[in-house]
Parts: sequence; structure tokens; C-alpha cells
Amino acid sequence: MHQYSGVLKVNLSALRRNWRVMRERFSGQDCGAVVKANAYGLGVAPVVQSLYSEGCRQFFVATYDEAIQVKRLIPESVDIFVLQGVCPGMEQRFCDEDLVPVIFSTEMLRRWMAVTVIGRRRCALKINTGMNRLGLEPEDFLAFADEVAFPQTIGVELVMSHLACADEPQHPLNISQLERFRPIVEMVRQRFPQTRISLANSAGIFLGDAWHFDLARPGIALYGGSCVPELRARLSTVVTLKLPVIQLRTIFAGESVGYGGDFVAQEEMRIAIVSGGYADGLLRRLAPRFAGWCEWYLPMLGRVSMDSCAFDVSQLPSEILPREGDFIEIIGDHVSLDDAAKAADTISYELLTRLGDRLQKVYFEDADHLSPPI
Ligand SMILES: *Cc1c(COP(=O)(O)O)cnc(C)c1O
Repeated sequence: MHQYSGVLKVNLSALRRNWRVMRERFSGQDCGAVVKANAYGLGVAPVVQSLYSEGCRQFFVATYDEAIQVKRLIPESVDIFVLQGVCPGMEQRFCDEDLVPVIFSTEMLRRWMAVTVIGRRRCALKINTGMNRLGLEPEDFLAFADEVAFPQTIGVELVMSHLACADEPQHPLNISQLERFRPIVEMVRQRFPQTRISLANSAGIFLGDAWHFDLARPGIALYGGSCVPELRARLSTVVTLKLPVIQLRTIFAGESVGYGGDFVAQEEMRIAIVSGGYADGLLRRLAPRFAGWCEWYLPMLGRVSMDSCAFDVSQLPSEILPREGDFIEIIGDHVSLDDAAKAADTISYELLTRLGDRLQKVYFEDADHLSPPI
């Protein structure tokens, strides 16, 4: 070791187990995987290869560059959907690389049809059913479908929409989005039976079979984010983040810790300073509610700095006090990803995608990979 470094361990067996949990719960034909943003920060290459080895054949990314990266990792042709569609001038490149843009406006659709060649082009269409982010309006889509010999001419292989509140099962938008999507589904089923339909992200899969259709798009659940409570008991921990202690010190009553002097000791305390701060993705908002773990829960003290932060180890008996070089768990089996995110007033997605490049990434398999798939 030539320096102290936080360690981000990624359990690839657990990733595949989580994918199987989603696939088994999904009543439709295929379960894909969303691997945008470097597989939610975990490293797209090992994640994609691992999921591919488990049988995943549909990958969703945000951008063209991400799509090319995924394509180069896989030895055969699979479906790679690009959620942010296709920029002007890039249409032919998508065809040449056999990538599938998710087209979300009539302007993009007309451009796509003008430039690319029938038979060579493949695309997905995204319908806005109430999220009001990206997507064709249902009426525009229905009118357009009447106008052209869709999907043969446009090359539409997938029609999809995205749920805004799937992680809140009781939210009325879940039903209303489904209702707005239904006429589209009926039309596609009748007129273009070859075209697949997709609506559910991780949480959407748990809304019930009515939201399932043909292809699922789970992301966060694969990486261990329990976006709905019933997943808590079923998902395996994929991500473990540990930071090394680089100094132990004693502070006395009235002394403060870190920038701003926010935390002031009421009594003598032992504190551990660890390597790892907001530049490594430890959001500043974690303080003061967060507790890490090393033999016991250790409250964070004071503000998170760029490269370090501090934990209270006073309650540990001296035999088990961490020493320089020992690790404190920030995310893992004792501090769940969701609890850590909650302490920072955010969601697991943000916590994961902020994890910094300085962390040493370690990929491993657990004993489970020796046993056959469930
Ligand atoms: C990111 C994304 C997903 C994955 O959502 P999770 O909540 O991570 O399962 C699915 N579909 C679309 C359109 C997305 O942008």
C-alpha cells in the first residue's frame, strides 16, 4: 500500500442474485438492466459482463457514448437502448452501430425517418403518460401511427413510458399513468404485435402485473437499493464502502471537531479521523445524522471535509478500538445503502452515482456463484 484509500467493494454474485429476484417477480417476457451513469457509479464493465453472463440481453443507457462502451463489452449483439435518444447528425451512427435510440419527440422521429434507411434502423418510442419529462404525447403518437406503416417503416421495436411515483405504490399517478398508457398498448398490440412494450423500472415491477408488459427496466434494485419496502428482505448487499482510519485522537470538553467548529465535545472523547470526504462522494449532508460501523455504530462528528471526516469511537472498549489502517463501514451489511442515503436527505441513486474515482474498486464473487441459478 502506498497510500490510504477508501475501498468500494462490489459483490457481483449479489448483483446477479438481485437481477434474478427482479426477473422472477416480473411476469413479462424479458428483464433488462439499466446501466446508465457507469452502472450507477459501480463500474459499467464488470456489471455488464456479469449480468450478461447471467442471461441479461437488454441494456439501457443514457447516452451514445455509454452505449458504445456497453456494446464493446459484449461478444454478441444485444439490445442497447439509449434513453436520451439521438442528436441531430448522429442517426446514421446509431444504425451503423446497431444501437436503439429511445425517441421522445415528433421532431426527433421525423429526423430519424428522414435520415435512416428502412430495414436498417431500429428504435424505441417513449410516450409521456404523466411524468412530463421526455416523451411523445399519446395523441401525437396515435396520429403518427395512423400516418405511417409503423413499425416496419420506422423500425419501432419497443414502445415505452416511465413511471414518476412507482416507489410510492399508493400514489394516484401510478394508476393514471397506466390508464394513459393503455390505449397506446391496445393499438400496438392490435396493429403491431411484434413491437414490445415496457413500463416498469425496479419499483414498477412491484406495483403488480398490470404494470409489467413485455420488458422490465430495473436499475437501482440490481445494485441493492430497496426502492420499495418489500425488497428490503429480498435484495443482497452489492455495495460495501469502507474508509480507513488515518488518525485516532482524544479531545476534551469544550473542544470542537472540523470546519466551522460545529460539533463541540461535552466531555473527553476518542475520535477516529478517516480518509474519505465529499470528494469521494460522502455527501456533506450526511453530517450530523450519520453513523458508520466498526464493531459498533459510530456517530459522525462535525462536518465532512473534502478528503476526511471524523467518527466518535468513545463508546468502544479499548480492545476493539479501531487502529490506524482499520476500516469504518459507511455502506454495507451494517449500514444499508438506503439508510445512508436517508441520513444525507437523499436517495440511494444519488449516493451511488457520486462515489468518487479515488476509491479503490474491488469486484468479487461470493460462494453463491458456485451454486446453480435459482
Ligand atoms: C433510470 C431509469 C430506469 C431505472 O429506474 P430504477 O428506479 O433505477 O429501477 C428505468 N427507466 C428509465 C426511463 C430510466 O431513466
